Amino acid sequence: MTHDGRKVIVAANVGTPKDCEGALRNGAEGVGLFRTEFIYLNREDLPGEEEQFQAYKEVLEAMAPREVVIRTLDVGGDKELPYLGLAKESNPFLGYRAIRVCLDRPEMFKTQLRALLRASVYGKLGIMFPMISSLDEVRRAKGMLAQVREELVSEGVAVSEEVEVGIMIEIPAAAVMSDVLAREVDFFSIGTNDLIQYTTAVDRLNGKIASLYTPYHPAVLRLVRQVIENGHKFGIWVGMCGEAAGDQALIPLLLGMGLDEFSMSAISVLESRELLGRLNYAEARARVPEVLALGTAAEIEETLQILRISEE
Ligand code: PEP
Ligand code: MG
Repeated sequence: MTHDGRKVIVAANVGTPKDCEGALRNGAEGVGLFRTEFIYLNREDLPGEEEQFQAYKEVLEAMAPREVVIRTLDVGGDKELPYLGLAKESNPFLGYRAIRVCLDRPEMFKTQLRALLRASVYGKLGIMFPMISSLDEVRRAKGMLAQVREELVSEGVAVSEEVEVGIMIEIPAAAVMSDVLAREVDFFSIGTNDLIQYTTAVDRLNGKIASLYTPYHPAVLRLVRQVIENGHKFGIWVGMCGEAAGDQALIPLLLGMGLDEFSMSAISVLESRELLGRLNYAEARARVPEVLALGTAAEIEETLQILRISEE
C-alpha cells in the first residue's frame, strides 16, 4: 500500500519451485514470473506431463492463496535445448523461439498446457505466453489452451475456472498493439529485459554495447506507459517482470504510470515494498509527464535520482 493508499502487488520472479521459500521469506505477495525453462534444461529429452504437473503443483501449493504466474516455455534466443534439434541461427534473438516454437510443436506445447491446467486446482494460477508479437499468436495459443481444457474436462479431470491468461509484452509490436491485445487477455506483464533489447536494437548480452542497454531510454518508458494505459482502458491489470521492476530509481515512475504489479528477484522485494510504502501515488503520477518529456536516458536517470533524493 502506498502512503496515500494505492494497493500494488510486489511479487517475485522464480526459476525453480525451491525459490518459493526465499520469495515468501522476503515478503513476496505472489509470483509474477515463474520461468519454466529449468524443467526442460540439462536433460536428454522433453519432460513429460506428470513431471511438469508435479513442479507446477509444488509452486502453486507453496504460494497459495497468492497468485503464481507461470510462463510457458521460452526456449531459443539465449536458452538452447540440444534435444529439440533447433538449427543454428545467425540471429537467435529474432528467430525460432518461445511461443513460435510452441505453436509450431503442438504436442510439446499441449503437454505443458495439460500439466498447467491439471495443477490449476492447487492454487491461484496465471498462465503467461512469452514473446508475443501478434494478435494471431495470442488467439492460437488461447485456442490450444481451450482445446486442452476441453480434453481434460471430458476425461473427468478437475480444472480451475479461475485461471487467468496473460501475455508478456516484450516486443515493441505487442506494446504498440496493446490496445487490441488487451481485449483478449486477463493481464499483461511487461518484460523489460527483452523490450529494451528489441526497442533499442541493443543485444542484451553484448558487453561492448552494454552502456546502450538501459531501462531509462525514453522510447522504452513511453512504450511502458502506453502498455499500462491500454491495459487499464480495457480493464486488465498490468505488471512488469523484467529487471526494471525492481529498480529503486524507476519504481516511483512506474507507480506513477499506474503499474499494478512489480515482479522482481526475491532479494529486491523487501526494499521495494518498503519504498512503495513511503511513496505517494498522486505525487508520482503528477511527475510522469515531466520525466517522459525528457529526450535522453541520461536526463531521465538524473531526474529520477534527484526525485529520489528529495523523497528521502
Ligand atoms: C524479460 O524479457 O523481461 C523477461 C522477464 O524474460 P526473460 O528475462 O526470461 O527473457
Ligand atoms: Mg524475455
